[in-house]
Amino acid sequence: MKYFSTKRTSPVVSFKEAVLKGQPEDRGLYFPASIPMLDPQLIDGLGNMPKVDVAYNVITPYIGSEIDETSLRNICAETVDIDFPLVPITDQISALELFHGPTLAFKDVGARFMSRVLRYFSKDRDRKTLVIVATSGDTGGAVASAFHNIDGIEVVILYPKDKVSRIQELQLTTLGGNVTTLELHSDFDACQTIAKQLLADDDICSRSYVTSANSINVARWLPQQFYYFYAKQRSKQLYGDAAPVACVPSGNFGNLAAGILARKSGLPIRRFIAACNANDVVPRYLNGGEYEPHDSIATLSNAMDVGSPSNWVRIEEICGGRDGISEILSAVSISDQETRSTMIGIHQSTGYILDPHGAVGFSALQKGLRDGEIGFFLETAHPVKFDSVKEILGTQGEIPASVSETVSKQKHAIEVESDYETVRDIVLNRI
Ligand SMILES: *Cc1c(COP(=O)(O)O)cnc(C)c1O
Repeated sequence: MKYFSTKRTSPVVSFKEAVLKGQPEDRGLYFPASIPMLDPQLIDGLGNMPKVDVAYNVITPYIGSEIDETSLRNICAETVDIDFPLVPITDQISALELFHGPTLAFKDVGARFMSRVLRYFSKDRDRKTLVIVATSGDTGGAVASAFHNIDGIEVVILYPKDKVSRIQELQLTTLGGNVTTLELHSDFDACQTIAKQLLADDDICSRSYVTSANSINVARWLPQQFYYFYAKQRSKQLYGDAAPVACVPSGNFGNLAAGILARKSGLPIRRFIAACNANDVVPRYLNGGEYEPHDSIATLSNAMDVGSPSNWVRIEEICGGRDGISEILSAVSISDQETRSTMIGIHQSTGYILDPHGAVGFSALQKGLRDGEIGFFLETAHPVKFDSVKEILGTQGEIPASVSETVSKQKHAIEVESDYETVRDIVLNRI
């Protein structure tokens, strides 16, 4: 498969080049030259197909022969070795739980796939591959876990001191080995600025192959289609043939763009609802306003605090302009107050514990679902990751085994001032 830039002023590249480069020079996003139509038999036969086969069949057209069949099957097997249950909450609404991976967030799937693909493409390179990520929480943990102990790859993570939850901090700082974690005396924006400088630093670039592992990389974006197929499998078992509505808690809109891509390939999803918090660029636009990016606003569902969603261009690319998008997508903005009351209400009436991101999804789906429809929302992270859940509900539910294990480990982070030269010296020492 070839990939072009959504800005159309950079050269068309192979899958391998798109993965290694991450982003085209013109700062557009890579997009597949054609969207594959899946064999209807594949869709019909989804019911009893093993997870690995689903993943392999969905991703193969996007890669072609650039990864051999055995390696790609292994990559898929390692990526989806996670449960993706669809849990009924009300008569019409169920939760697609995407938090059963190693760091308890949906980002594990994309990060694991990308790490294995990068290992495959780096195996005969002469220099190390350096992965740099700035994180405000979930991304760093998923990337660190996915790349931990992968040969030939060094990982550097930058996070703002005192601004991630306790569990997130432990996930970032307890791995060691090829993962170096820097705790900066600053905020997330400063971490991101330094990460961008590192990615463009001549000395670093001449001594290693540098990449960012952020959500715009096609190797992180495309495998997010998998769990929409699993949702459809489970939905059929629970509700029969009715095509479900999918509601996606959104920040950078990569997850939603992957779902819409899966539908375009033939997956029977009735329509989508984008669930947003106060960062409502897309709800405003789809409800008739202008598309006006703004600075991000801090909310309870902080992994969705994005004022200028980077993957929106991919949704435009798949659907065309506003009219095409509106045919299959609506968007709802949910306030922190509604998020809180949804968490409390659902806990009281059903016993289910929503995390703030899932609560935005549930609430948006409940508002948007019409009579006779069934739907699912993506529960994008485990409630135990967010200190706010304890404050709001007085409990975070059962603590998963991986958390108890992480909590018993030693934190290793290098605490530094937010100073480029200091950070750069530490990074140069690792490559
Ligand atoms: C990253 C993240 C999101 C937003 O996903 P996008 O693909 O950026 O829209 C939602 N919920 C959680 C918990 C996340 O970590």
